[in-house]
Amino acid sequence: MITIVGGGFAGVEAAWACAQRGVRVRLYEMRPVKTTPAHKTDLLSELVCSNSFKSQEADTPAGQLKAEMKALGSLVIPTGEANSVPGGSALAVDRDLYGRAVTKAIEEHQLIEVVREEFTPEMAERCLSPSPPAPFGVGRSLRGSTRPIPEGRGVSLIIATGPLTSEPLAEWLAEKAGRGSLYFYDAVSPTVEASTVNFDTVFAQSRYEKGEGDDYLNCPFDKESYLKFVEALVKADRVPLHEFEKAKYFAGCTPIEEIASKGVDSLRYGNFKPVGLTDPKTGRWPYAVVQLRPENREKTLYSLVACQNRLKWGVQKEVLQMVPGLEKAEFVRLGVIHRNTYIEAPKILTPWLEFREVPGLFVAGQLTGVEGYVESAAMGIYVGITAARGEQGKDPVPPPRACAYGSLVMHLQDDTPREFAPMNINWGLFPDPLDAPRKKDDRRLKKLEAAREAFAGWKAVL
Ligand SMILES: Cc1cc2nc3c(=O)[nH]c(=O)nc-3n(C[C@H](O)[C@H](O)[C@H](O)COP(=O)(O)OP(=O)(O)OC[C@H]3O[C@@H](n4cnc5c(N)ncnc54)[C@H](O)[C@@H]3O)c2cc1C
Repeated sequence: MITIVGGGFAGVEAAWACAQRGVRVRLYEMRPVKTTPAHKTDLLSELVCSNSFKSQEADTPAGQLKAEMKALGSLVIPTGEANSVPGGSALAVDRDLYGRAVTKAIEEHQLIEVVREEFTPEMAERCLSPSPPAPFGVGRSLRGSTRPIPEGRGVSLIIATGPLTSEPLAEWLAEKAGRGSLYFYDAVSPTVEASTVNFDTVFAQSRYEKGEGDDYLNCPFDKESYLKFVEALVKADRVPLHEFEKAKYFAGCTPIEEIASKGVDSLRYGNFKPVGLTDPKTGRWPYAVVQLRPENREKTLYSLVACQNRLKWGVQKEVLQMVPGLEKAEFVRLGVIHRNTYIEAPKILTPWLEFREVPGLFVAGQLTGVEGYVESAAMGIYVGITAARGEQGKDPVPPPRACAYGSLVMHLQDDTPREFAPMNINWGLFPDPLDAPRKKDDRRLKKLEAAREAFAGWKAVL
């Protein structure tokens, strides 16, 4: 039997994936006995904010991810479609009908037992002892061992308690992950697709040319463009904070609009300091600099260093496009600062989202470092399939790099030095094809073709 904690997007998908493969599940959900600051009902898979499952157009990253999820037997996506409301190109759902339908499906499944109780550290420890499972591959054919394949792994505990994991369990996770590898807040800097940056303006250089010369890209402000940028930044509308986010929010990650409002020069003496960066066009240090740092090994994505902010999304994009070199940049992620809980996956988790140091302990959903309802649900299916395979004595099969699943898992495994932060599915995560066409639309089409082909191969061996 597999224990799953959290009846949100990831937890219900993990439970469904296991049960549909004939594996018995106990699913713990603490609501309504205890609730989170954002949930309002006792429904499973509750939508805490917007009612959108993102684009339903097939030729988009979110459309491709949903197609892959459906092919793997998703519960969430077809239930969303069956309870949709008009939402333009997005799959928008009636949150009440959707939540009821998911809850009914889970509660009525013969192999799923739903327990309405807060899962505690003591329960987690009990679950993982006295006989932790053999690591995957031990005694299994994939690693060439001649030992017999075991019947099942004995223990699988999937934690899918999301961004608002109850405090005792979050503390326990922090202990298991190692202090410093579980984050309680998100201060995300915006991220752009590399192919949309103006390389005639930006220049590649590390400060004082130390380290790897071309790792950083620099967007050089002159005095006039800097002053205009600061003026727009301080005037822009900001996202109000939730009551539960007000407490310790600014520690170490003051938003740039707050810094800028303290004085016109504060950014250029701080986050945007130009020292040690010589613009090859002028031979001088610029007036101020926004640095871009690679977000992945393939350098298809760059994040704006130290640009955490909480501007509203529409105006945020307009303001950031005032940065020289980013006039036409496409933002795959905009800045946010909010309450979250997630693990530093590249350091802690295997490619199948099991703790490297704690066999049998999996995480799913937003805790893994993906962002959004759909992405969290997707990781629930993946972990559910893997844990169910473990029960049945089969090894995990990580997704191929090119498909949407592979792109998300790559984000969770890529150990490029960066501020690891949750990411939703986007074009920049899909690998560039070898013979990448110059035109953006053609390039994207090639990415999708590669994704579809790779996914079909993966599905066939699952
Ligand atoms: C305020 C807020 C607004 C958001 N808005 C959006 C949005 O508009 N669109 C979007 O795509 N994403 C949004 N997100 C992100 C969203 O929460 C995730 O995308 C998604 O819900 C994560 O799925 P999950 O399964 O990982 O966690 P959740 O869906 O949060 O599910 C986790 C479940 O675990 C339960 N739980 C927690 N601790 C315990 C415990 N110890 N024992 C038992 N049960 C426990 C919780 O009650 C909850 O039901 C928002 C997040 C927050 C915090």
